Amino acid sequence: MNLERELADIVGDDHVLTDPSVTASYTTDWTGRFHADPGAVVRPGTTEQLAAVVRVCAAHGVAMVAQGGNTGLVGGSTPRVDEGLQVVLSTRRLTDLGEVDTVAREVTAGAGVPVSSVQRAAKAAGLRYGVDLASRDSATIGGTVATNAGGLRVVRHGTTRAQVRGLQYVLADGRVVDRLAAPPQDNAGLDLTGLLVGSEGTLAIVTAARLRLVPPETTAGEVTLIGCRDMTEALSLIPPRGVRAAEVMLASGLSLVRRVGGLAQPLEREHPVYLLLETDELPDLPDDIDAAVDPALWAYREQHTEAIATEAGARGTVVHKLDVSVPLERLGAFVDALAAATTPYDVFVFGHIAMGNLHVNVLGATDDEVDGRVLTLVAQHGGSIAAEHGIGIAKARWLPLTRSAAEIDLLRAVKAAFDPHGLLNPGVMLPG
Ligand SMILES: Cc1cc2nc3c(=O)[nH]c(=O)nc-3n(C[C@H](O)[C@H](O)[C@H](O)COP(=O)(O)OP(=O)(O)OC[C@H]3O[C@@H](n4cnc5c(N)ncnc54)[C@H](O)[C@@H]3O)c2cc1C
Repeated sequence: MNLERELADIVGDDHVLTDPSVTASYTTDWTGRFHADPGAVVRPGTTEQLAAVVRVCAAHGVAMVAQGGNTGLVGGSTPRVDEGLQVVLSTRRLTDLGEVDTVAREVTAGAGVPVSSVQRAAKAAGLRYGVDLASRDSATIGGTVATNAGGLRVVRHGTTRAQVRGLQYVLADGRVVDRLAAPPQDNAGLDLTGLLVGSEGTLAIVTAARLRLVPPETTAGEVTLIGCRDMTEALSLIPPRGVRAAEVMLASGLSLVRRVGGLAQPLEREHPVYLLLETDELPDLPDDIDAAVDPALWAYREQHTEAIATEAGARGTVVHKLDVSVPLERLGAFVDALAAATTPYDVFVFGHIAMGNLHVNVLGATDDEVDGRVLTLVAQHGGSIAAEHGIGIAKARWLPLTRSAAEIDLLRAVKAAFDPHGLLNPGVMLPG
């Protein structure tokens, strides 16, 4: 039988999409940099349907690309041009959201539930979800698990990995593994749940997650924007305790956000570096510092990604988004060296400073030579070429810069154990 017919028999005709005008939003990534036409986009409505779809694709030897909100920034959620026939497996209809368990402080969410829905459900129950990111309304629980998303609260609550208590997932041969109800302490064998977090759809397809929730903050908190001389001064102004978020921006990004978003000059003077703090109490700052306190100051940080994308669109180009981290003591030197590595392009840098995590956005490059220069610089500064967005397609060839040959052999062996025929997200994470 023909593949499309078999898939439609499982999910219904309305949920197998092949018309390019309908599939467009599934086949181009958020940055507009990665696009390919798939065999079909399939939208299962239950775990059982998703497992049946995987079995059919596996029987036909057809590759599968898991996709949640398609907000990923490394080209991992869309089909790729050189990997033959692929089916996009959209999880957006897996939207079951369980009752919040206020005793265990947990909730179970389907892979397609947006992060903001979990946040709202937790808040309604007097709790909070520890992950927050600007893409919260579109990014899904499955996608954030698959990328081990970080975001604005990592300094307080850790990455998505720290919130995952259990997972339900579908293996490459269509079998379902359910570890949603695992007991709190569970050392029976290797931690397969932990292995799947951050696996970028290359090992299995996540269909639901049991998530930890955290207690509410006891105060509203203070949001302070501080003008700094350089990275070193910004780092020195982060208080030792009570930090809910610590974000950094450079002058170029702040001025772009102001222009695109029509925002006012936030401080009395302009500065090379800006530190945005959210803290339990007002931070202790030197008397002569230029700073302002207002929750609305978050806009200057949160609008960076959108403003850079708007600017790229206006210039008719794409953004090369390089999410990296370096040890805190090397941040200043790394940022100083970036200008030479990114010449002749415009570069916008912002990120989660307390984690040494910087988002380096390069505008106008037509090949990925500049990616190599920046990522080599990261390796020279003892950093990681992927802090929180993953490796995807965009950085697969650069993985050997910061992972040894022995580690890459192990990654390949794990991939082969989960997906012996290479059908799940081919081309993602591992170098070709
Ligand atoms: C404005 C903006 C701000 C952002 N801010 C942050 C930030 O602060 N921190 C951060 O970490 N990221 C950030 N991101 C990136 C992005 O939102 C995250 O990577 C997010 O986790 C992706 O979720 P998604 O549902 O959109 O996944 P997708 O983009 O659909 O997929 C991402 C990857 O996960 C895989 N995948 C998706 N669903 C599943 C599943 N159910 N099972 C297995 N694999 C799956 C895909 O194959 C792909 O490899 C931002 C993006 C935007 C556009």
